[in-house]
Formats: sequence, structure tokens, C-alpha cells
Amino acid sequence: MSNRHPAMEPGRDEVAAMMAAATSLVTDFLGSVDTAPTAPLDFPASELTELFAPPGDRPGDLDDLLATFRDAAAQAAETVSPGFYAYFPGGGLFASALAELLAATVNRYTGSGAMAPKLVAMEHGVIQWFCSVFGLPPTAGGVLSSGASSGNLSALVTARQHRLGGPDRTGTLYVTEHTHHSVAKAAMIAGFTPDQVRLVPVTADFRMDPTAAEQMIAADRTAGLRPFLLIGTAGTTNTGTIDPLADLAEVARRHGLWFHVDAAYGGAFQLTARGRVKLAGIEQADSITLDAHKSLFMPYSTGILLVRDPRLLRSAHSMDADYLQDLALGDELPNWADHGTELTRPFRGLRLWLPLHLYGVDAFRSELDEKLDLSEVVRRELRELPVIATSEPDLTVHTFRAPGGEKESQQLLERIHASRRVALTSTRINGDYALRLCVLSHRTHRSHVDEALGIIRAAALAA
Ligand SMILES: *Cc1c(COP(=O)(O)O)cnc(C)c1O
Repeated sequence: MSNRHPAMEPGRDEVAAMMAAATSLVTDFLGSVDTAPTAPLDFPASELTELFAPPGDRPGDLDDLLATFRDAAAQAAETVSPGFYAYFPGGGLFASALAELLAATVNRYTGSGAMAPKLVAMEHGVIQWFCSVFGLPPTAGGVLSSGASSGNLSALVTARQHRLGGPDRTGTLYVTEHTHHSVAKAAMIAGFTPDQVRLVPVTADFRMDPTAAEQMIAADRTAGLRPFLLIGTAGTTNTGTIDPLADLAEVARRHGLWFHVDAAYGGAFQLTARGRVKLAGIEQADSITLDAHKSLFMPYSTGILLVRDPRLLRSAHSMDADYLQDLALGDELPNWADHGTELTRPFRGLRLWLPLHLYGVDAFRSELDEKLDLSEVVRRELRELPVIATSEPDLTVHTFRAPGGEKESQQLLERIHASRRVALTSTRINGDYALRLCVLSHRTHRSHVDEALGIIRAAALAA
């Protein structure tokens, strides 16, 4: 493509040529995700500093620039590969990526229902559908955000405003040592000190102990504190463990606390029959966060916050400004800007709407069912190997260690990673080093899991 005068407002042919260049990059990329799960990241530092180069005053060449992007993207953790079992694999569903291109092209303003009512209605429909999936009442609502970190923050602030009336030095919230750190971060941002975040003891299987929670809440209240928020996790980051949600909902209700469920990872399993059994009680939550960029395979920055009473979310996030007076609206469509921290925002709704309508809900249900089946295969196989399982999977996260100590486990992980076909991570379970494997990508199927287990078996037997 000519680099003479690329037009900021390209003509039809130029758009087609740019799209063709992008299409070729995309098809090459998607065609190769199966082959190289873990790229070596040990390149010379000079290759990084070259990329700091400032933009020139003269035009660049699109093909060259796309090649720079392609090569930079190649030298990265292979998050979209079927062999990626690290952290929470996120697929990057292509239909969602396409939706993002389309949404950015029309660049409609969806912070308010007044400026693109039909697009806001599409997003509203997606949120209402998620509310129904979780058994929340038809009056429930929510907002799409960058992810569970901002969802947890908005839930916490809403609970604070509604239950405490605002910042309060005596308000206390209840989590466990396995609660995601984004909750403690949200508490810090919302003005709470670390001692206001109360750590409830867990049972031997890493779940919040409801009896201990109840005793702590009662004791704190007696001591003059104001317990206001209980947070259950539906799928902890470390072990994928689901807290006893129904029991916790009961405790929260008895003591007048807001009940938030952080279902960033586990929430989407509600679409499956097995998941619904495990997540029982989540329908009693006052608010729920889930990450479509984890268990619904969407691109990063696709998070969902659901709230039983969206009026409370709105009153905790709305501000008036004279220059926004044209955006005032009836109750038919939400002003998203009044439901979260963002005023201007991307039209995230399309990223969910397009794949959900294109593939149908059954497609997502069966993907997640397949992951549960594969997880069962992993669980069975790990018990046949000379490794020690260090947690029981509720969903699709497995942890294990080598016989021996930390050094043996680290060496096991190194031998597994030397295959460059499989990426795991390590963590600590009760203080002890453990390997962690999460089956979650829509690209991961039986053949990939068999390959991964073969690599783990060979690495374990090589000890
Ligand atoms: C990933 C995760 C978060 C943080 O979500 P982001 O989307 O990364 O902001 C919070 N809680 C849990 C349980 C998670 O797994």
C-alpha cells in the first residue's frame, strides 16, 4: 500500500485495502494459534527499546506498521492458545473482536440512552438476559465494565452508600484470604483502611466458614463497628473454589449486610446444569460480578456487574452537570454513565450481543460443559501420576505439587514448560508451592488436554 498520503478519511478503495491488510494479519494469526503455546520471552532489551520509537512527522507504511504489531504480539505469552492453562485463560472470541471493530467504526456514544437508544437497548437486553440467568428479579440491572476489578469497586461503593450512607471509619466488610485482591484494592480506593477489611476464617477446603463469618459480624457489631458488606467468591483465583453462597446469603440477610458475589471466573458456569447446582445461592446476591473475558471467551475488558436493585447502583454513581442536561432521560433506557465510573465508554454491548446472538446460548453452554468434562479428565489423570493434588476442583482449576519440596515442584514446572506446548502457573496452597492448571479456553479440546497430560506425565516421571 502506498505510504505517500494515507488519508485520515480514507475512500472506499483505501478502506478496502486497509481491511484486506488487517484480514490477512488476522487470518494468519488465527491459523497459527494451535502451534506455539509458549513463545520464548528472552529477547535482547534492544528489541524493546526499538519499539519506544516516537512517531515520525511523515507518513509511515501500513504494511510495515502492521508487521511491527504482528511481531510484537508474537513475542508474548500465548494467551489465546489451546495450550494456555495459566491464570484464567481468555479466548479472544473472534466474533467479539469483529464487534469491537464495528462498534469503534460507528463510534456511537452509548454512555447515555439518549444518544444511541437502539444500541443502548441492545446492551440493556444483554444485561437483562444475564440477570435472568442468575435468577435475579426482572427489575434487576447492571452495567458492563472493564472487568471484575471495576465491577467489585462499583458494588462496594454502592453497598457503602446504601448501607453506611457514605464513607465511614467504622464500616466493616467481610472476605477471606482467598478473596481476589481487587476487593481489598476497591476498599482502599473507596476510603477504607486495611483493618476495615475483615478476614473470615476458611474451612479446610478453602471456603469461607459461614459460622465464623456470623460470629465475627456479631462480635464486630457488639464492639461498635458497622458491618455492611459480605463478599462470597464463586470460583477463587487460587483454586477455583466456590464459597457456600446459600449459607452466606443467609448470614448476610440475618445481619442486614449487602451480599456481593465475585463470580469473575465461576459465574458463567451458571449456564450449565452442573454449574447451577454448584452456584446455588447466587440468586440471593445483591450484586454479582462476572468476567466475560474469562469464562465467556471474550476479549479483555469485557466485565459484567449485575445488581438486584439498579436504582442503588445509579444513586451511588450519578452526578449532575449543566453540560449534560440534554442527556436526561426517562426510565426506559439506562444512562450507563450513571451506573459506573466511566462517562465516555466503548460500546461494549456489541462484543457480547453479537456472539451470543450469532452462536446461540447453547453453544456457550456446551463449551462450558466440555470444559467441565475435560476438567474431570484432568482430575482423574492427575491422581494416576506421581504428583500430589493440593485442592479438589469445584470447576476447572487444578493444583498439584511434586513429591518432595518446593524445589522439586519448581523443577517439575520447568520441565513441563520446556515442552513449549503448555503454559501453567504456580501458586501457594497453605503456604506451599503448587502448580496450577485451569481449563477454560474455547480452543482447548480433548486432544489438547491429552497432550498436556502427556507432557505433565513425562515431566513427572523424569523426576
Ligand atoms: C480475575 C478476577 C478478578 C479481577 O478481574 P479483572 O477483570 O482482571 O479486573 C476479580 N475477582 C476474581 C475472582 C477474579 O478471578
